[in-house]
Amino acid sequence: MRLERAVAAAPPVRDFYFTPSRTSALGLEGVNRELKRRGISCRSFNFPRLNPRGSSIPLPDEYSYLKPFIVEGERGPLSFFTGRKIFGPPFHDAAGKIAEENPDIIFLSLFAWTYADDVLELAKHLRKRLGYSVPIILGGAGASVLPRYFIQRELFDLVMTGETETSLRDLLDHLDKDLPLENFQEKNELTDEPAPLFSFTRDSKGNQFLTLALSRGCPKMCRFCSNFLTQGRRFRLVDLPSLEKEWEQIPYDKGKPIHINLEDDNLLYHKEYFRDFLSQCKTRFPAATFSADNGLDYTLLDEEFTAYLIGRGFRDFSFSLGSADPAVLKEEKRPADPEKLERLLGYLERKGIPVTTFFIAGLPGDTAESVLRTLLYLHELPTRSGISLFYPVPGLPRFEDPALFLSKPPALCSGSSAYPWSGSLSTEELVTAFRLSRFSNFLKSTAAGDEEKQLRDIILETGTLQTFVGKNKNITPLPDLNREMCEHFIKEISIGS
Ligand code: SF4
Repeated sequence: MRLERAVAAAPPVRDFYFTPSRTSALGLEGVNRELKRRGISCRSFNFPRLNPRGSSIPLPDEYSYLKPFIVEGERGPLSFFTGRKIFGPPFHDAAGKIAEENPDIIFLSLFAWTYADDVLELAKHLRKRLGYSVPIILGGAGASVLPRYFIQRELFDLVMTGETETSLRDLLDHLDKDLPLENFQEKNELTDEPAPLFSFTRDSKGNQFLTLALSRGCPKMCRFCSNFLTQGRRFRLVDLPSLEKEWEQIPYDKGKPIHINLEDDNLLYHKEYFRDFLSQCKTRFPAATFSADNGLDYTLLDEEFTAYLIGRGFRDFSFSLGSADPAVLKEEKRPADPEKLERLLGYLERKGIPVTTFFIAGLPGDTAESVLRTLLYLHELPTRSGISLFYPVPGLPRFEDPALFLSKPPALCSGSSAYPWSGSLSTEELVTAFRLSRFSNFLKSTAAGDEEKQLRDIILETGTLQTFVGKNKNITPLPDLNREMCEHFIKEISIGS
């Protein structure tokens, strides 16, 4: 099968929210680059990026458990999600755009299991338009965790699992030899020389953004992390000279600012490499600023290295804490060093550098009390509180049974679904923790106007969480939250202030 024209696409997705960093589609960019390297013309569609604010869609039945917690027209600093949206065009339009390219082959990239039904929906529309004459290949971390879910639908000619870079090269070699696609056997090997995964974008003002993944695999065993399911446990780093070569293709404008976000949360395991990388950036992008939005492991940082990172262009920090509860952290095999965290936060406060410290609520072994302890602990420290609600993907320790995921919609496997996956916290407790985390940040924010001050005073006086609703910002109580959690949190912070 001689390939001349290909399409690589990330499907439109349905969710309550979608952050710009999620639209980086690093895997899709990698497929696109590999095809082009081989002289195959490739049109790439990153559909969520075509409609990043999303269009409202009805709440599907599987979310009926969330209805009591959704406040229509809610806005402002305490907000939970207000409704379901589709990010990207409708599925039939997306399929139409792909079909118009008249491709010989289509690659669909699924970066997260939670969007499994979105990629299936796109594939169904593609089959309606194109029949089975054009092969459709599915890959990505979301497909790797439970390939059976996709194979049994008979919509794809091949479902690639694990790291696709080696498999994709093997597949293209196989097709180059004119061998039938159905005879292709995926070896599923981890590459020893990972290629840099990156995505370069520009906003309407010309500000430039580079999102980058420099490593694969992780030897650490954090039980809540699904990284190993696709990339294994062997830590591998992109070779820096090859990164320099790739960057020659980036249409970078020296006259405009560039911000580089590192997707890896474990680069601190190899500090010398991290230094070499930042030195390389200094030469190529002299005024770049940096972030590591997935959260740096603060236990591997000290003041000296933090100062070095600031000097190189880090303007804010995200730390990953996991939890502040020692028993939960032990169970999750996640290291903790509260004294170090407090020291670093104090140091960064003195430097005027903002920090968000992320933790997960709803881990197995959590309780409403342990989550409250974490919230109160972070409230006392000079950091924003970054709450993530726990969700599993197929194959995660304690969630190995595929039957669990074949009987529930994949869309429930996301933080925004506040689904009580581990059974440790109910949806009511998860949503309450989410709003309390926002309330904590609201209290620390310095940019409060009169309406915000009024909202804050009412909450503190009544001991109940309230929120803004509608354009007039009417202050409205939130009746369906966990009362004990709200009262306890508000009482404790009032005593402490
Ligand atoms: S959370 Fe980070 S450190 Fe832990 S296993 Fe995953 S990648 Fe490694």
